[in-house]
Order: sequence, then structure tokens, then C-alpha cells
Amino acid sequence: MALIVHKYGGTSMGSTERIRNVAKRVAKWARAGHRMVVVPSAMSGETNRLLGLAKELLPDAHDPAAQRELDMIASTGEQVSVGLLALALQAEGQPAVSYAGWQVPVKTNSAYTKARIESIDDARINADLDAGRVVIITGFQGIDSLGHITTLGRGGSDTSAVAVAAAIKADECLIYTDVDGVYTTDPRVVPEARRLQTISFEEMLEMASLGSKVLQIRSVEFAGKYRVPLRVLSSFTPWDIDLAEEAKSGTLITFEEDEKMEKAVVSGIAFNRDEAKVTILGVPDKPGIAYQILGAVAEANIDVDVIIQNVSHDGRTDFSFTVPRADYKRVMELLETKVQPELGASKVMGDAKICKVSIVGIGMKSHVGVAAKMFRALSEDGINIQMISTSEIKTSVVIDEKYMELAVRALHRAFDLDAPSA
Ligand code: ASP
Ligand code: MG
Repeated sequence: MALIVHKYGGTSMGSTERIRNVAKRVAKWARAGHRMVVVPSAMSGETNRLLGLAKELLPDAHDPAAQRELDMIASTGEQVSVGLLALALQAEGQPAVSYAGWQVPVKTNSAYTKARIESIDDARINADLDAGRVVIITGFQGIDSLGHITTLGRGGSDTSAVAVAAAIKADECLIYTDVDGVYTTDPRVVPEARRLQTISFEEMLEMASLGSKVLQIRSVEFAGKYRVPLRVLSSFTPWDIDLAEEAKSGTLITFEEDEKMEKAVVSGIAFNRDEAKVTILGVPDKPGIAYQILGAVAEANIDVDVIIQNVSHDGRTDFSFTVPRADYKRVMELLETKVQPELGASKVMGDAKICKVSIVGIGMKSHVGVAAKMFRALSEDGINIQMISTSEIKTSVVIDEKYMELAVRALHRAFDLDAPSA
């Protein structure tokens, strides 16, 4: 008997028929003797629908008063789905009770639309579990210290599930989703991509931050901080699949680098097209320059990712960095109207058509020549590298967006990640 959290995404909760299937699956786990807590998302499309209604009435809901209302509205999607799931379980003869975040309570800060969880009270959850009930808790939401409803940002139900699992010290948190696990890369780009049986927590964190969309990054951070064993698995298997088989399926995110870990130097290839590159040419090469440029960017609340400063010629140098593509126009304007005149730089250039491709693997800690192998594979396909950045377990390159798929496929092959052809 174990203490288990299940998380179901919007697709799994997409209709009453599907909710009935979720209920049957959860009831099967409960009948096997497990103490069950379930954290579902809103029915698919519901959060978009709700926020769409809000937008019709106030297109720019940016100030805190308006954002509070967005959370009030968006949080109802999950409230409906927990109630429906509780009814479906009761219809199966399985006692169940649902709670909205504020009833638990799930306490958060007051950053509406992107709140962070601060604490979760487990008393009520444990009392219901002791009474033999399945406990169903809304994903995506909580309550702040003033009693206002908050939401955690899009995709936030993953984080809710992991946070609940941490609070009750669950044995495992199972994230049921529309893919059957974590893959070496996106199978839509590389059909030979393989599902990983295990991935280390550190690798998963890199993959999520570098563009893999399987889990919301904050959920992975949470799992790391509280060492919650996480499993990503398919919600499309028949609900009556053998429980022991189901419990081993998908991808387990582990904390131990034990023998069970697959012994690959590189575990996965991540990519994203969400960044843009800017370059400021001919800036004086003297102390404080990086600060003057990036300080102005930080003040405008724009995140900077990869940074390169060239060697200088005649006391002048070029400085490039990447920013989220959504901030591209803003950063160009800032550089042209403020930074360039202040520094007496000669020119500002930008390119939004770039992408970042990364190789990730804890094996990189103990192997040399991994980056060189990456660069060779790219050069063999004639792909020019514009920027490079590395950390202990990843190497990223910035390249022209039009070569993204070619690069991902070449790297997948070069690092022997392709599934053996049958
Ligand atoms: N329903 C929310 C969303 O669509 C939260 C989630 O599904 O994780 O973003
Ligand atoms: Mg999701």
C-alpha cells in the first residue's frame, strides 16, 4: 500500500466519458489498497475559453486589479473538473471528495496569474484519506494571504500535483498525459526518437528549461527541491490495464544515478524557437560595459540567455545576446534609443529567426570531447554556429532557424539516440 498522487491533464478530463475513464483508473488504484490523491486540470480548451471571455470585456488586463479577476475566472475550470471527477468516482462506488485550492488550503503569494505556492496544509487531506476517501484537489490554483484566489500560470497543474505530493510525502507522483513518457527528443521532429525509461532530475530540469514541453519547469524544480519521485505516463492506455504494468510504464524521473540509469553520454536533444539574437557593434572595451548594456535590459524586465562578447580591436568590441522572441522589438528599441547613444556604439543589429539546439546529459560531466562531437556533426551538415553556451550537463548552440530540424536529426544520430531500426 502506497500513498500516490495522480495528475490528469485537460485532454484526459476532456469529456464526461473521459472523466469516467479517469474515475475507473483511480478506483482501480484505490481498490488495490493505495491511498489516492488526484489533481486534475480543467477540461481541455476550458481555460482558453474562460480567458477568451475575459479578453472580450477587457483586452489588456494588466494591472493587479484586473489580474485578480483573471484568476477568479480561470480557476473555475478546475473547480468544475474536480467536482465532476468526484461524482464519477462515487458512481463507481468509490467514496471521494473534491476541494478547491482555497479549501485545502494551498497558500501562494499574490502574484496573480503566475503565483508561487508557499505552503500546503495536509491535515484535511490526511483526514479524508484515513476515512477511505479519494481526495481530489484542483490543479493550477491557490489562495493568497489576503484570501484572494490565485493561479499558478499556464500549465500550472503539474506544479500543483508535485507540490501536493511533496506536502503529503507521497511515494510517487504520476503525471498522466497525452504522451507516453519523456523522449530523447520531440518525435514529431525525429521519428526515431525513443522513450527514456528513466531520466535524472538534473537532466529533466535542463530539458524543460531548454524547450521540452512535457512538464512545466516549475513542477520539475519543485520535485527536485522536495525529492518527489515523478513519473510521466500515458493516459491513453485502457483504464483496466494491469496495475503492476501501469506502475512501471512511462518515464521515471530519478534522483539516484544508479545502475538502472541508461548509460548514455547524451540523454536528449532539446530545441526552441522562442529566442531572438541582438548584437551591439563597436562598444568601447572597458570595465562596466556589459553592466551598462545588460543592466538596461534587466531594468526593462527582459530575460537574457546566451551572451557573447568578442575580442576587441582598437579598444572596441561587439556584444551579442539572446532574449525571448516576444521581447525582441522592445529590446531593439531600447538598444537603439538608449544604449547605443549612451555608449557611442556604432550599430545595433538583430535577428529573430534563430533557434537554440541543446544536447543534455549527465554523462557530459565525466566525458571529454562531447561538445567537439556536436560541432562536428553540425559542420558535416553545413550548419553554421552563431553562439555557444555550456554548463556541466548541457551544450547549446544558436543557429539559423531554418536548420533547426536538420540539426536536431543530425545530433540525434551522432549521439546514438536513434531507436535501432526494426
Ligand atoms: N488549466 C490550466 C491551463 O490550461 C492549467 C493546466 O492545465 O495545467 O493552463
Ligand atoms: Mg499540461
